[in-house]
Order: sequence, then structure tokens, then C-alpha cells
Amino acid sequence: MSDPGDYYLEMSEARRQMRELGQEYDKPIPSKTTITSPFWDGLNRSQFLLQKCVSCGRHIWYPRAWCIYCGNRDLVWTPSKGTGKIYSFVIIRQVVENLPSWSKDIPFVVAELDLDEGVRVYGKVNLDVIEDIHIGDPAEIVFNKVTPDITLFSFNLSKTR
Ligand SMILES: [Zn+2]
Repeated sequence: MSDPGDYYLEMSEARRQMRELGQEYDKPIPSKTTITSPFWDGLNRSQFLLQKCVSCGRHIWYPRAWCIYCGNRDLVWTPSKGTGKIYSFVIIRQVVENLPSWSKDIPFVVAELDLDEGVRVYGKVNLDVIEDIHIGDPAEIVFNKVTPDITLFSFNLSKTR
């Protein structure tokens, strides 16, 4: 984020678009930067993009300006298969200041997912019964369009476990 003011401008623009569509998404919306824009644009196309280092070949997430392993700045965007295994998780039973936008979802699960490409990502898990999740469960990334311009992601446990 280059300027905190940009973030709030984008928030208000996103909210204006949602009002026009009669939709209401009341949680924080990400702010795109030069480095993160390809990632967010990928989500809009239902692609979870990872950066891959041209020098050492390793994948990186979250988006950065250089490789965290070798320092190379030559990174290319590659689509992830979006599949992996649950590394760890927490059950959220209380939210900071009881923000209404999150409080209405309590309890919910946030997990770290080890993707097959070798990176660990974290996000909300879609569960009917929160106790249904276990460390090591196979899971996959799913896409959630929340505004006309913003798609977020979450995790579903794979049916094959
Ligand atoms: Zn590298």
C-alpha cells in the first residue's frame, strides 16, 4: 500500500459499487499495489498465482519484490494447482473489538494450508461443522467474489479424505 489514503479511497469505491448492485460486503477489502496487483487480478480469474524465482526455481507467497531464498528480483507469476494439506488451524471464537462484520461469523476456522508447490498460505476454511477439520486434511483453494472488482479466497476441505 503506497498511501493509507489510497486504501480508504478504494474501500469507499468498492462500497459504492456494491451499493449500486444491492450487495453488502462489510469486511476489509484488500488494497492493490504494484507488487500485489497480479495476484488480486488472478483471483478475479479464479487463479491463485504464486511468484516463482527464475534463478532458484522456488515458489513464493505472499507477493514480494524479490526471492526470499536467493534475493533474485526476476520472478514470474505461475498458477498454483490450489491444492494442499492443512498445516495448522485455529477456531476463532472472539474477534478484536467484536467487529460486527466478523462477529456474525463466529465461530469460524482460519487455517494454514501447505500448497503442493511448497508455500504456506492462510485463510478462512468453509465448514458446516467447525470440528470437522484436522491437521493433515487435504484441502483446496476456492474463490469468493465479494465486489465487482475484488475476489478473495478461502479453503474447502477436499472430498477425497
Ligand atoms: Zn530464488
